[in-house]
Amino acid sequence: MNIEQFYSLFLQSNRVTIDSRKIGKDDVFFAFSGGNFNAATFAEKAVNEGALAVIVEQQDFENKDKNIFYVPSTLEFLQKLAIHHRNQLQIPIIGLTGSNGKTTTKEIIHAVLSEKYNVQYTYGNLNNHIGVPLTVLSIKPEHEMAVIEMGANHQKEIELLCTISQPNFGYITNFGKAHLEGFGGFEGVIKGKSELYDYLKNHHQTILVNENDPIQSEKTEIYQPKITFGKDHSDYNFESFSEQHFVGLSYQNNKALSKLTGEYNFTNLCAAASLGLHFGIDFEKIKQAIQNYTPTNMRSQIVKKEDKTLVLDTYNANPSSMTASLHNFITFEGAKTIIIGDMLELGEESEKEHQNILKLAQDLGFNEIITVGGHFKNINSSTSAFLNTAELIEYLKLNTIQSENILLKASRGISLEKAIDFI
Ligand code: ATP
Ligand code: MG
Repeated sequence: MNIEQFYSLFLQSNRVTIDSRKIGKDDVFFAFSGGNFNAATFAEKAVNEGALAVIVEQQDFENKDKNIFYVPSTLEFLQKLAIHHRNQLQIPIIGLTGSNGKTTTKEIIHAVLSEKYNVQYTYGNLNNHIGVPLTVLSIKPEHEMAVIEMGANHQKEIELLCTISQPNFGYITNFGKAHLEGFGGFEGVIKGKSELYDYLKNHHQTILVNENDPIQSEKTEIYQPKITFGKDHSDYNFESFSEQHFVGLSYQNNKALSKLTGEYNFTNLCAAASLGLHFGIDFEKIKQAIQNYTPTNMRSQIVKKEDKTLVLDTYNANPSSMTASLHNFITFEGAKTIIIGDMLELGEESEKEHQNILKLAQDLGFNEIITVGGHFKNINSSTSAFLNTAELIEYLKLNTIQSENILLKASRGISLEKAIDFI
């Protein structure tokens, strides 16, 4: 089936979904097959639940009357449809990638730009080869711009995501030690993330640069157009401050305090404020957006629980974000316990990186160090090394953590947030 033909049907649809549990009236449902999941059964179900069209891979179930369409690859069709849709859109799209801080930065950029514009943005963490096309397809005529998060764990992924989203502005939050396995080491990370720069350069689009980051500066040194922050001579100049562990940004002596903890969030705020100023939003409005944005997603979130202060950073972890988090947490006043879980997907570097983090934690001198996960357990001989979150919970049922400040940080796969209720 041809994309142009299908596109007119898509334009009448409510939204595109791949989740058979969430089919609404006039949705376009893409039935991805996989495992013991039978796409055809879901196709019938989707039609009965009011779907406007269903895309499936199995030829037998093509049924034009019911708007069930056969395609050789649902994934390819989804991506092509998104590209076609993108080609019709006249709005600026801001593309984000980087090892850490993409979602946080995306959320703050969205908050800032929404002070003046109707902005579509990546929902949650839908940042891959399926999530990015879904986000592009969610852009409606009323949207004036969009912020799209692009994640990657191997080469050429960002290139593909750029082909789909065709960003007019791009920002790499940082180059860090994440997904080392798939990228082939740190050099591989730099190369893979820089595919965003390659796309922007080839299409003469604008790069947002943190000039305080040597890799970003070097890679964009002679490039135009760009928007810069981070140094005195940059386009936008911000200063950082903090109050009660919350990070703030000051611009021309006007202070905006966020509800985020962790010095690394200063850079994320700078990126959002720079874009806001670039798009003609008054700093007063930007300030409101920064002050009002409340993280609820286990990223750099502070939660008060009785007499304790919990820092929840359980959404994910890798050596760079773990290091940043520990340095931030050591500045808290009073006794401090850290509960750190394994950093996954590090490949060959894994053992060394876990050793580095454990050593850093010991050197910084926390009152108590608890580790969760097999990687840490292999190198941590203390009695506070648990194999998984379930073991930690058993321990917490019988023991109370004495420190008034507690940091929880681990990779997603550790599900460390399950322990929160037992602290
Ligand atoms: P994912 O790869 O899961 O999509 P992400 O890049 O979207 O991750 P976030 O979810 O925003 O990143 O943040 C994850 C963690 O990374 C934060 O909780 C924090 O510990 C750390 N972090 C956030 N911003 C930065 C930054 N600019 N530099 C280093 N670490 C950061
Ligand atoms: Mg993310």
